[in-house]
Amino acid sequence: MAAVLDAPTRYFDADVETMPRERLAELQLQRLRETVRRAHDHVPLHRQRMQAAGVAPDDLRTLADLQRLPFTVKTDLRDHYPFGMFACPLEGLTRLHASSGTTGKPTVVGYTKGDLETWAALMARSLYCAGARPGDVIHNAYGYGLFTGGLGAHYGAERLGGVVVPMSGGSTERQIALITDFKARVLCCTPSYALAIVEVAEQMGVDLRQSALRVGMFGAEPWSQAMRLEIESRMGLQAIDNYGLSEVMGPGVAVECTHQDGMHGWEDHFLFEVLDPETLKPMPEGEAGELVITTLSKQALPMLRYRTRDITRVTTQRCACGRTHLRILRVAGRSDDMLIIRGVNVYPSQIESVLVGRPGIAPHYQLVVQRHGSLDEVALEVEALPSVSVDGYAAVAHDVAHHIKSMIGISTTVQVLAPGSIARSQGKAVRVRDLRPK
Ligand SMILES: [Zn+2]
Repeated sequence: MAAVLDAPTRYFDADVETMPRERLAELQLQRLRETVRRAHDHVPLHRQRMQAAGVAPDDLRTLADLQRLPFTVKTDLRDHYPFGMFACPLEGLTRLHASSGTTGKPTVVGYTKGDLETWAALMARSLYCAGARPGDVIHNAYGYGLFTGGLGAHYGAERLGGVVVPMSGGSTERQIALITDFKARVLCCTPSYALAIVEVAEQMGVDLRQSALRVGMFGAEPWSQAMRLEIESRMGLQAIDNYGLSEVMGPGVAVECTHQDGMHGWEDHFLFEVLDPETLKPMPEGEAGELVITTLSKQALPMLRYRTRDITRVTTQRCACGRTHLRILRVAGRSDDMLIIRGVNVYPSQIESVLVGRPGIAPHYQLVVQRHGSLDEVALEVEALPSVSVDGYAAVAHDVAHHIKSMIGISTTVQVLAPGSIARSQGKAVRVRDLRPK
């Protein structure tokens, strides 16, 4: 469904988005030096770690010198809760966000006025890259609040010149009425919530393919290509993947263009590395490793070599859209989410790609991991389509287990549940219930 646009209207910021890579590298080095200087001078943790590593801000002469810098991890933010990683005094900030913090203290991130302007500009650029245009009605169903998704998309959509509907999550039937009545062209939410919206619409007898929706800006959780095709065919839009994390900014760090061939990571504001998660040495381009991000313009919370735990690959080959910024290939999942089932590494998104579209089942699932003795067992709960009779559940379960075994290599116990049995997400989906003892 790739859209082809005339050159003058193809980019939000043509000079930056098509900047030759050599110039992009010069800009990165200049901004990296400023960022490292700022982090060193204003954040004791960064200064102490750099001293311990025997590196000073002036030692950065080329981008390769980045590898001399120490890493930052998520627990650093928790250990220095709430404001210990900030590079400016609290009164210099304009906004705070925080993670939900399922375990222990939340991670708190802060923004200066300038940081918020940069964020809005990058999110506007991302929306434009995804196919949104000024004047579009943009229905924002990302959760508003401390989570960066809602306000991140909101201010980006305003900056783009869109007409924003600040819906937040929940009230799915009302979402559908407003999408239809207001003629929303762009929908922003998690992919799992998009699926919940289209399911309820179908139950209400509303065909969203007949609505004005054309662009889905979906992110904040890993999802499979199979899920993308499922959402596209049922919603009648182009489903665009985007990536971000609050520790380095929020949404707007990387986004697909309409060619849907990897997410352009905005290299004028971020430095991306892909490292071997064990040795922390760079992987050859195109090979999978942990994505590590250094911010290049953040004032309040500069991040040096932040270990995202997301496993991915990147390519610097020129994209058909003409943008020169590297592309991050679909994120399989976080290394934290990876399940090791009897020695096989499995991401929930791999299982999803086998499940979605299989005959007889709906694209809703949950994995339950348990340990029996020393062995891990995976039970997979899937939902039958209403058209399948209860007598047919056993055959469906057998078919699913067979395909997971042959495509991923793990044995699963598949339980087929009645339609509607699996809880629908209104934000980030919970795909795994890990019942193994910690
Ligand atoms: Zn592109």
